[in-house]
Amino acid sequence: MSEQLDHNEIERLTSLKNRERMQIPRQPMPEQEPDVRRTNFQEVPYGLSAMAAVIEANRCIQCKKPTCVLGCPVGVAIPDFVSRIAEGDFEGAIRTIKETNMLPAICGRVCPQEAQCESQCVLAKKGQAVAIGRLERFAADWEREHKLTEVPPVGPDTGKSVGVVGCGPAGLTVAIDLRRAGHAVTIYEALHAPGGVLAYGIPEFRLPKDIVNAEVDVVKQMGVDIKYNYIIGQLETLDELLERHNAVFLGTGAGLPWFMDLPGENLCGVYSANEYLTRCNLMKAYEFPCCDTPVAASDRVAVVGGGNVAMDVARTAARLGAEEVYLIYRRSEAEMPARAEEVHHAKEEGIIFKLLHNPVRYVGDDQGRVRQVECIQMELGEPDASGRRRPVPVAGSEYTIDVDTVVVAIGNGPNPLVPRTTENLAVDPKRGTVKTNLQTMRTSKPGVFAGGDIAIGAATVILAMGHGRQAARSINHYLASGIWEIDELPVPCSGDGTG
Ligand code: FAD
Repeated sequence: MSEQLDHNEIERLTSLKNRERMQIPRQPMPEQEPDVRRTNFQEVPYGLSAMAAVIEANRCIQCKKPTCVLGCPVGVAIPDFVSRIAEGDFEGAIRTIKETNMLPAICGRVCPQEAQCESQCVLAKKGQAVAIGRLERFAADWEREHKLTEVPPVGPDTGKSVGVVGCGPAGLTVAIDLRRAGHAVTIYEALHAPGGVLAYGIPEFRLPKDIVNAEVDVVKQMGVDIKYNYIIGQLETLDELLERHNAVFLGTGAGLPWFMDLPGENLCGVYSANEYLTRCNLMKAYEFPCCDTPVAASDRVAVVGGGNVAMDVARTAARLGAEEVYLIYRRSEAEMPARAEEVHHAKEEGIIFKLLHNPVRYVGDDQGRVRQVECIQMELGEPDASGRRRPVPVAGSEYTIDVDTVVVAIGNGPNPLVPRTTENLAVDPKRGTVKTNLQTMRTSKPGVFAGGDIAIGAATVILAMGHGRQAARSINHYLASGIWEIDELPVPCSGDGTG
């Protein structure tokens, strides 16, 4: 990171014509070799070097109408920060990013850029998009490693206070923007650590917890008070919070695991992805017995699902020492919801993909421990409501795989505790999400706003952050006007602190 910059080369690069820029190949990201990383929990990619970042940034042709920005739910000024990296001005780059995104080291690592900003890059249509995510990560890491992290200014005290339930990306983002506007903010978090899924779900080898903690530290330095081990709906109700605060934001996420209701799901050794990952990430089971919480030592693990969560579980199981890790997914690779990069990494690490297969039951021994998973082969039929071709079982194709651990990673529903313990908070009866106007982020209950996975179901970090920003604008408007019944927010005026 502290490598010297070649200023002559920077001068040459910045004076290139657009057609020459478009000839520069996308810069590769160095990473740990698969057989090495399968034995450790350290981060897989090392990040771009300073000169590689400069070269990558010089691939950007600075479009007059930058569509990449439209692809970013928090509206990061992408061409501006990229052009600063192109000139070697890394401090300017991170300042630009942080005007709209205070969690850039996190987003640079976990955002599905290929489906968001990078998918809109003009270069993507002609070949490979500018590596916007890698550049964002570079700028954030450069700032942290050079100890240049700045705490954003906080507005004059408004005398208003807001309670935020949940310390995931939605809660953190709304808290930052409300503090910027000068309100007092308290976050109530059920767990003993901040970050939500960033802390308990996404593994260390994809998102080191030091990085989450460093970004949360800035939030604390802004004066946001975080109360841990504080479960709203048990310790206190939402209505009690409303007595203490002028408004409340609900960002409780989607942490309720789904199961398939198969015979044998209650056997020992059958985990939900949430439990398995929480034990490993938040409780650091991979350091057991140095840490208190163990996780089953397994030789043969079956992971059911095809999303990012399933990839995280499979790759975690491999690192915990399992000889064989099967990923059982009922559709084909083309329909897999996981990011292409995660699938690629999982395959490199030796995960065995059982595509177009589905479990039908789990078989246990006389001690009640899981010993086998019975699967059936599937074939793709007509498209279903999701637009993907429906997987149909192939009669008579059942077979078994010997396993000692099964992890079910087929999805999560919204956390039901707060809705169940709160009157007049409307919930979608089918999906369990809190009904939220996605323009104003207002719920059915006056004074209560919501966003992130609790409002739309399991989604992405950056969408949760986008909701947090939008909710902060709406809360500012509500606190200033006292008016609850609105359908849309006025256009932001400069200086409302939330962009
Ligand atoms: P969360 O992150 O779930 O945070 C909610 C917080 O609220 C939690 O800390 C929880 O403890 C707390 N809480 C819940 N109930 C209460 C209560 N009653 N009282 C107090 N606190 C409460 N997205 C990506 O963009 N990229 C990825 O690579 C990616 N990988 C993922 C991997 C895994 C394993 C999982 C599970 C999800 C992944 N996601 C990914 C999805 C992403 O993490 C979520 O969409 C995002 O974290 C949602 O943010 P949130 O703030 O709404 O909720």
